Amino acid sequence: MSNPLVGVLAIQGDFAEHRHAIEQAGARSAEIRHLRDLEKIDALIIPGGESTTINKFDDNFGGQVFATLNDCAKNGMPIYGTCMGSIVLATHIEGREQRSTGLMDITVRRNAYGPQKKSFETYLDIKELGAEPFLAIFIRAPQIVSVGSGVTVMATVNDTIAMARQKNILVTTFHPEITSDMRVHEYFLSMIKKPEAPATATPALALSK
Ligand code: GLN
Repeated sequence: MSNPLVGVLAIQGDFAEHRHAIEQAGARSAEIRHLRDLEKIDALIIPGGESTTINKFDDNFGGQVFATLNDCAKNGMPIYGTCMGSIVLATHIEGREQRSTGLMDITVRRNAYGPQKKSFETYLDIKELGAEPFLAIFIRAPQIVSVGSGVTVMATVNDTIAMARQKNILVTTFHPEITSDMRVHEYFLSMIKKPEAPATATPALALSK
């Protein structure tokens, strides 16, 4: 697919930054505000923001939003969740009754690094992105505290998981869209062509349930 159309869920959060990043990476982009908008896209990004707001939105539509995302993922659409997006995609949210789409076999702990003022940035080694470390910005971020056996861990920060992939689903707990480094978005675009995840989980990083 030479010039894929990537939708960015535009209900809440930093969708404009993701549109800019994915366009820099070589794709076209569209804002997704209605369920019917999902029909025309090749891949979807769920941005950072506040996950409880997305849940309220889904509640208002009787669960149709999460149900439609499930259909898209099961039909093979690549979906990338950033920070809040990783919470929306997780099967389990630790210690809460919060609903989610359950599309990726991970457990997340919300606001795990502390409040907004404990936000931080650090360089991560991400093998799939090449030798150059990646500047990762964590903003009131969740941690991925465990992953199922079908999940490939791609990056960690202080022994906690910050990036992972399960087939056509990718998550980062950090925000690549607010840096000028487009490699995570380029990697996501490569998933449109390559639906299988790399078998690269390092034993030390495979924090299986
Ligand atoms: N703290 C938010 C939540 O738990 C996520 C923050 C973000 O996406 N930067 O929903």
